Amino acid sequence: MDTALANPPQSTDGGVRLFRAKEGLRSALSGARREGARVGLVPTMGYLHEGHLSLLRAARAECDVVVMSLFVNPTQFGPDEDLGRYPRDEERDLRLAGEAGADFVYAPSPETVYPEGFSSYVEVEGLTEVLCGDPARRGAGHFRGVTTVVAKLFNSVGPDVAYFGQKDAQQAAVIRRMARDLDFPVRIEVLPTVREADGLAMSSRNAYLDPADRERAAALSRALRAAEETARAGSLGAGLDAARAELSAAGIEPEYLEARDADELSPVAEFNGRPVLIAVAARVGAARLIDNVLIEPRT
Ligand code: AMP
Repeated sequence: MDTALANPPQSTDGGVRLFRAKEGLRSALSGARREGARVGLVPTMGYLHEGHLSLLRAARAECDVVVMSLFVNPTQFGPDEDLGRYPRDEERDLRLAGEAGADFVYAPSPETVYPEGFSSYVEVEGLTEVLCGDPARRGAGHFRGVTTVVAKLFNSVGPDVAYFGQKDAQQAAVIRRMARDLDFPVRIEVLPTVREADGLAMSSRNAYLDPADRERAAALSRALRAAEETARAGSLGAGLDAARAELSAAGIEPEYLEARDADELSPVAEFNGRPVLIAVAARVGAARLIDNVLIEPRT
């Protein structure tokens, strides 16, 4: 049976077309592609906020067809993580995605993405073993889940450009490396972190914060700003100390707070003419939050 017909695209209020199966999506894209259309892909786990919408708007401005994927990917969650309670609101997501310019939303079920007997994974070595990928933290298995699902999305959609957020800097570095190493014919665009008025990086996981923790959570971005300012004026070490002081004043003990080469994710002790990433992860109340600042060398 033709799966495309078994899963016809559904129209939604936002004017976006929803697909549950890759076959239908592919045939909807094939006409546009024959005519030379540029296809943009924005992968998301849904519960959309302005960070996601900024990626969709960029894709809309640069591409002829915009596809958003909406999939809470089970293989990137560890056994003790928040897969079960991850916030979801598909109806709202479809409306917001349509308003921000998505043409198609691809929202497959876990069984569609990982059919029985699924046993093939994509792994990027090295970059995935530090920061969030440290075995004592989320582990490299988290990124194996990410690269596997993103590789599948690249194969299902065939985008010319794929959009990711700097908020997840390590993920972006890992995906860039995967696309380069495995010759995916896609340009990877990484766009700036969108923040709340008090600096907190937008995240679907901010929904876990109670009002007191929500206020405390702004210390992460304050710490990164202090790190950047102090590091530029003095040394990276002094920058990290300033960040630690901000976190500690808010009663936050970071899981990690590190300065790393922005591309290789190798540790750096001093500025060396290459972009430096200062990255932080911390549990604040019920949420594990990450944030970072990218410090470009002065020219
Ligand atoms: P998620 O739904 O959390 O998997 O995120 C989907 C995409 O949106 C990823 O490329 C994220 O890096 C990006 N993203 C998430 N939060 C933000 C943000 N605050 N600003 C910019 N991009 C973001």
